[in-house]
Amino acid sequence: MFDSLADRLGSVFEKLRGRGALTELDVRAAMREVRIALLEADVALPVVKDFVEQATERAIGAEVIRSVTPGQQVVKIVNDCLVELLGSEHEGLNIPATPPAVLMMVGLQGSGKTTSTAKLAKFLTERQGKKVLMASLDVARPAAQEQLRVLGEQTGVATLPIIAGQSPVTIAERARQSAKLQGFDVVLLDTAGRLSVDAALMAEMAQIANATQPHEILLVVDALTGQDAVSTATLFKAEVPLTGVILTRMDGDARGGAALSMRAITGKPIKFAGTGEKLDALEAFDPQRVAGRILGMGDIVGLVERAAANVEQADAERMAEKLSKGQFDLDDLRAQLKQMKAMGGLGALASMMPGVAQAKQAMASGAVDEKLLGRMEAVISSMTPKERSKPEIITAKRKIRIAKGSGTTVMEVNRVLKMQLEMATAMKKLRKMGGMKGMAAMLG
Ligand code: GDP
Repeated sequence: MFDSLADRLGSVFEKLRGRGALTELDVRAAMREVRIALLEADVALPVVKDFVEQATERAIGAEVIRSVTPGQQVVKIVNDCLVELLGSEHEGLNIPATPPAVLMMVGLQGSGKTTSTAKLAKFLTERQGKKVLMASLDVARPAAQEQLRVLGEQTGVATLPIIAGQSPVTIAERARQSAKLQGFDVVLLDTAGRLSVDAALMAEMAQIANATQPHEILLVVDALTGQDAVSTATLFKAEVPLTGVILTRMDGDARGGAALSMRAITGKPIKFAGTGEKLDALEAFDPQRVAGRILGMGDIVGLVERAAANVEQADAERMAEKLSKGQFDLDDLRAQLKQMKAMGGLGALASMMPGVAQAKQAMASGAVDEKLLGRMEAVISSMTPKERSKPEIITAKRKIRIAKGSGTTVMEVNRVLKMQLEMATAMKKLRKMGGMKGMAAMLG
């Protein structure tokens, strides 16, 4: 899986790894090679462009972590970008509380649809303890229904008895009804495939989807077809509300173009990967693990993660020292905002501060995003060092200048100042309460 891409990326990073220092030029040269590696892996061009831009920007803007080499840090950044590209986390199936869940499988003939239906049924039965019923809706090929019945026997999964002459919608209705009556948790509907996308196939699929209102519509596509897999997904998506993708033949896919482009181009997550002909060769698609396989550098990624955690620790200690002195100026606020942005959460100290706690809540609810934190940072950066350490000298005139300089408004400048004031006040209170002991008291 991903062998040729992994080799290519491996040799790019080999060159960087041992180096003591990296210039912007080094990073850009490495990223050019990453770009070529991704293009050779058949990743869609716009995806490659975005990826390289993002990774370059982060690598150049990254704060240096002293205990790892810059090359190692670049590996970690590329790893993180890969994980994000693949969807960050494994997306499970939508199985409702009241059974039966209806999962509809769609895809072209030969994509591995029927095999994947049986694999998924086995997976749900064995790994999740679900009672599963499979039904083939492929009336165009009589052998298709028989194929699923045989697979059912092999996997020990129930299949809907075949009644000749029924339409796909009727079979689907019968499957759901039987599942309800017989206490099945999940019904898997294996729909008919065609050799290529055609109007009749699309119409039939939409009709079944309308009639059964499935909880999941999973498109099965063959990873070996590369960019065609992504175009197929785009075409299916236009006809039915796909909820995810099962990418088959990942075992033979040395390049990875379909896996890497799918999510970004179609917006649909890859939920499972087929990794062989055997019926247990199905894996939950986990972006972290897949990125790990592509880079083959799990050790370095782990190392940088631990080192970054140590840096946070050092920041926390610096903050604790400030705290013991009862100080908190705009430079400290800026450091906290940076941490919030980097970690997507709170800095060491900020969690207990009134203004920031609100910001965090707003962030969690999606009302405040990274952009807002960036703007607040910009406000502080537009101040002079003296203003940052002595906020009380910031007059109305200065506020106008700061707002202009940061491309924000006086209102936003005021908000930053208010936050700093609240934190400084809290800080003084804490000091009176006795430094670290007070902090512990306040944290409860
Ligand atoms: P359908 O026409 O889409 O239903 O395709 P089938 O399920 O009949 O599969 C076609 C062929 O692909 C069969 O020989 C399967 O064993 C094979 N196949 C399906 N999934 C995978 C996979 O993940 N890896 C490999 N190597 N073969 C697969």
